[in-house]
Amino acid sequence: MLPVIALVGRPNVGKSTLFNYLTRSREALVADYPGLTRDRQYGRVKRGQRDCLVVDTGGIADDAEGIDSFAKKQVQVALDEADVVFFIVDAREGLNASDQSIAENLRKLDKPVVLVVNKIDGVDANAAAADFYALALGEPCKIAATHGRGVFELLAHVDELL
Ligand code: GDP
Ligand code: MG
Repeated sequence: MLPVIALVGRPNVGKSTLFNYLTRSREALVADYPGLTRDRQYGRVKRGQRDCLVVDTGGIADDAEGIDSFAKKQVQVALDEADVVFFIVDAREGLNASDQSIAENLRKLDKPVVLVVNKIDGVDANAAAADFYALALGEPCKIAATHGRGVFELLAHVDELL
């Protein structure tokens, strides 16, 4: 079984963009893999030491935003399967209440969580990331999923967590 990375975060932060970047090679998409449900999209990520599977979740939000129970279930199963969670937030939008409540749930998980600040292209990355230290999930990894900036470092960081 390969280690599984789950991509979570509120809608529009760039989960699918990162998924597409990580699985951009033709043979990356995984149709079927033992032990995993087929309700979600999985892909194989090529890495130096050991390949990983990455799973794109439909989105996670707090109840106030009215997330439907299906999406919630998707996220829960993805989190159950995950060895590492990438919690993605949006550098352009800054920290918001949904991020706070997701972070609260993630902190209760007994799994390594990497805080990923996406969309740092065209903004002051350090200033944008500074906001997110308040989530108490450690040092943020700064990336631009559309260009793949910072993604190599992000994956290298996973080695330290597995
Ligand atoms: P998801 O809802 O979390 O899956 O988000 P998507 O991957 O669908 O992305 C939402 C929007 O953000 C799209 O318009 C993307 O093109 C845009 N986006 C994603 N990553 C980046 C990035 O690194 N930089 C910029 N500028 N836009 C991005
Ligand atoms: Mg998406």
